[in-house]
Amino acid sequence: MRFGISSGSLEVLKRKYIKEDSPTTLYLMTLQKCLNNCAFCTQARGSHVDVFMLSRITWPFIEIEDLINLLEEYNPFKRLCFQVTNHLSWEKELVETIKLFKIFNLPISISAPFNNISHIEKFFELEIDRINISIDAVGKDLFRKIKYGEFEERLEFIKEASIKFPSQITSHIIVGLGEEEKELVYIIDKLSKWKVTVALFAFTPLSGTRLENMNPPNYYKYRKIQLITFLLQRNLISFDELSFDKNDNLLITEDILSLAEPFFEIIFKTTGCPNCNRPYYNESPRIVPYNFPRNLKDIEIEEIKYLLRNGRARINL
Ligand code: SF4
Repeated sequence: MRFGISSGSLEVLKRKYIKEDSPTTLYLMTLQKCLNNCAFCTQARGSHVDVFMLSRITWPFIEIEDLINLLEEYNPFKRLCFQVTNHLSWEKELVETIKLFKIFNLPISISAPFNNISHIEKFFELEIDRINISIDAVGKDLFRKIKYGEFEERLEFIKEASIKFPSQITSHIIVGLGEEEKELVYIIDKLSKWKVTVALFAFTPLSGTRLENMNPPNYYKYRKIQLITFLLQRNLISFDELSFDKNDNLLITEDILSLAEPFFEIIFKTTGCPNCNRPYYNESPRIVPYNFPRNLKDIEIEEIKYLLRNGRARINL
């Protein structure tokens, strides 16, 4: 059996050392194109992208046996994550593969096309740690346009799953697809109250996808959402305490900055399942990361504070 492995994960296994920005999770992906057709995704049925790409990362294939041999020699990973496309045999493939990885005793996350609770139950019975039910696009119209689905139904499903499996559900959200900031943080507030872990992604335009000509979000917007998501997820603030301008854009006040002050070193790091750092998933290593896969330097924290206070960067980003 073969899976795609993220190029960063494979590099760690082959070189047998980790750098400060190496992946801390081992990322695997199924190798068949998806039956779904999300507008942003390289794996979408309608995208004209190589099957070995997900976001801007390449995923060379590896035989599971070879991967297990490599892991037996060197395994610095703290989690194993399966990114699963919607194809006919995904459940069978996944169940068989998960059993093979039991020997490593790693917490397992699955991001797959789940659509009912019994589906999810079956995988929790295999003692996996967390399941991602992606929202990706926040807003009724946007969800329909980007994912061809019903937003309210997806929210209901996440709520139901979070009641049944408390603190074991993650949800991916993409910032920059054209969502309204007020609605976005309202939904993140709801998810936080349901104890769903939010994994933020910055929209990444990828050639061959329907959204290839759209721009990624600006850093100011992204940092605002990161900051408020952090506070909402930790129950340090609630939606009712937030303020917005006349266009429903989030306002970051001095009070909010003071509240966030003790956490500036961690707020802007990658969010999601524990120990998931997804290095360079959304951006080239040559630019400032949207999600920092490593600890931030003091200068980076100072720049972010300046950006949040002034609405513009002190340096050219
Ligand atoms: S947050 Fe990370 S580990 Fe969790 S499902 Fe998403 S990519 Fe995988």
